[in-house]
Amino acid sequence: MIANWSILNRRGFQLVGNLLCVRMRHRIKDSVSKERVLDAVRDSNRNVHFSTACCMPKLNMVGIIYKNIWETDPELFGLMKKEKERQECSLEMIASENFTSLSVLQCLGSCLHNKYSEGLPGQRYYGGNEYIDEIERLAQKRALEAFNLNPDEWGCNVQAYSGSPANFAVYTALAEPHGRIMGLDLPDGGHLTHGFFTEKKKISATSIFFESMPYKVNPETGLIDYDKLAAQARLFKPKIIIAGVSCYSRCLDYKRFREIADENTAYLFSDMAHVSGLVAAGLIPSPFEYSDVVSTTTHKTLRGPRAGVIFFRKGVKSVGKDGQKIMYDLEDKINQAVFPGLQGGPHNHAIAGIATTMKQVKSPEFLQYQKQIIANAKRLCSGLQERGYKISTGGTDVHMLLVNLRSTGITGAKAEKILESISIACNKNTVPGDKSALNCSGIRLGTPALTTRGLIEKDMDMVVDFIHRGLLLSKEISNISGPKLVDYRRVLSTDDSVKAKVAALKEEVETFSRQFRIPGFKEY
Ligand SMILES: *Cc1c(COP(=O)(O)O)cnc(C)c1O
Repeated sequence: MIANWSILNRRGFQLVGNLLCVRMRHRIKDSVSKERVLDAVRDSNRNVHFSTACCMPKLNMVGIIYKNIWETDPELFGLMKKEKERQECSLEMIASENFTSLSVLQCLGSCLHNKYSEGLPGQRYYGGNEYIDEIERLAQKRALEAFNLNPDEWGCNVQAYSGSPANFAVYTALAEPHGRIMGLDLPDGGHLTHGFFTEKKKISATSIFFESMPYKVNPETGLIDYDKLAAQARLFKPKIIIAGVSCYSRCLDYKRFREIADENTAYLFSDMAHVSGLVAAGLIPSPFEYSDVVSTTTHKTLRGPRAGVIFFRKGVKSVGKDGQKIMYDLEDKINQAVFPGLQGGPHNHAIAGIATTMKQVKSPEFLQYQKQIIANAKRLCSGLQERGYKISTGGTDVHMLLVNLRSTGITGAKAEKILESISIACNKNTVPGDKSALNCSGIRLGTPALTTRGLIEKDMDMVVDFIHRGLLLSKEISNISGPKLVDYRRVLSTDDSVKAKVAALKEEVETFSRQFRIPGFKEY
């Protein structure tokens, strides 16, 4: 016990010490120096409630919470380092991903994580929120500024844990249980949270708790079929129409969406999760002019923390014939759907990350970044087209594109697999007209993450070359394996000649990739 006491860590003592009056601190120090352990413990216990945890020698709890992760959990830290290494040496082309800034990572690793603050600024269920209130208000103010919104006309809620909970809060606020919702079908480029179901099963909770009916793209052009949407909406009479995409390389016609919504007195809810960075930079049409509610994730093109924001209209909605003003009533509905409806305590570390991201959005550097994302996507697109690949909708206006591999004989799954084997991350995707999501014919490629690492057009030419050579290899493997994915995987992992070619190409990709920096911590 004495031995333990004498190694009573300095931090623990300091912690206790900070809370004690000077006289008591001296008394305890004196007891410690004379090894009068029980006296010291008694004095500190008497004075500080938690001093037991800090000081009780036999609990031996003085170490873990002050040590670095590499000391306390080398097993986990080893995996974290491997993931960092993977991120550095591979080409990240998943369209929804990005590398957030050092300052956002610092927010996420800060003391803000510790605080409970249920409720909104100024109306919390817990004490001690004076600075948390300021931080959340700063995040709200900057979020409005980032999209040039007038605070008299728009408000926002920055507490949503991520994009999916943000969307569910919007439905909960605007529609009654089993209220009707229309969103772009998942296989056509919509998002799960817009209400995906199959003939066998309701997959998304949006389709379980609400009645969702999808609209589609034209299978020939790959473009949203607004006329069909208008016709279906007339029959289905939705309460909410969703304008938003996860895999669609063209700008949305928000004006048209608004007209269709108005015809059916539906809300227009725009989910700009994928493109919010481009919208903030003013490079593509903004949904705000026409929408009642807009949601976004903050970790995709916006390059902030993993979180969600909901924007809602407020103020005067219209003026009646009698001159009476009709006001929007969305603010309370949405705030209450987020909390207490669906969530508990806000993630204050993420809210701080949103605040600083929305500041970055206003910088010239951010505008340049967003321009480069599009320039890189266009170069990637033309490079692939020059090599004979078919791009859905014939091109891109945004940060991503969908390669239709149907005519090449390679499936999306095989393409994803070979590219992963050569350290290029992307995802298989249905292309318009695919019968099954499992046996799909496309891959989705995005440029936000590579652009953060500093790649420009000429680098995209190299990337096109790597992808093309990967897909040629895929064809070669398919010729040996036949059509089945299991056989393909087996050849990929066992055939010596194939393995050597894959390893050589992977080495080239990794050498190329390592030249480009990633913001964040050096080792993890
Ligand atoms: C990514 C995405 C979401 C969901 O975001 P999560 O943070 O993954 O929950 C919602 N809608 C769209 C259009 C998205 O692309």
